[in-house]
This record gives sequence, C-alpha cells and structure tokens, in this order.
Amino acid sequence: MEICPACGIGVDSTWHICPKCSQALSEEAIQQAGGPKPPQRNFASTLPWYYHTIPFITSITALIVADSNLTESGPLARTLIPPICFIAGGFIGLLILNEFAKTNGEN
Ligand SMILES: [Zn+2]
Repeated sequence: MEICPACGIGVDSTWHICPKCSQALSEEAIQQAGGPKPPQRNFASTLPWYYHTIPFITSITALIVADSNLTESGPLARTLIPPICFIAGGFIGLLILNEFAKTNGEN
C-alpha cells in the first residue's frame, strides 16, 4: 500500500489525489498542481507519545478529585460537577501540552 507523502494515510495506487489532504499523488497530477505540498503539521506532533497522555491524566485526576469531594453533596451536584470537571481537566491538559509544544520549538 502507498502512503500519502503529505498527511501519511494509506492511498490506493489508482488514485490521483489524496481524499484527506488533496495532495496530488500521480506524476501528472503533481505537475498539474505545481509541485508537492509540504508535510502536514498536527497538534504537538514534535513531542513524544507520552506527552499526549497529559490530557487523559489531568481529566481523570480532575474527575476523581471532584467525585471524592462531592460525597456529602446533593444528587444534582453529584450529577453535574464531575463531568464538568472531567471536561475542564482535559482542556487544561491540552493547554499544558500546548505549552510543552511551544517550548519544544513548534510554531
Ligand atoms: Zn494526504
């Protein structure tokens, strides 16, 4: 199987254009498009894989902390606050990951 040079997905050898990123794949299509596209940059792609576990760790930690602090509260608070803390923890983890990506020289 061939791989798209711009985005890295598997492409069929009979295709002329990548369906994900519109990279021209055949020689004629590359010439018509005026050369290959630069490689696609994904979020925090310069960091090793274990940095990408930060949002999972922060969101699950926020969920556990919120749940354990709400044992004396009413049912409405016990229903609403843990999922909100889960989402907010994941967002904070993404912000932390973004800071690591900035310090590692990603533009
Ligand atoms: Zn592609």
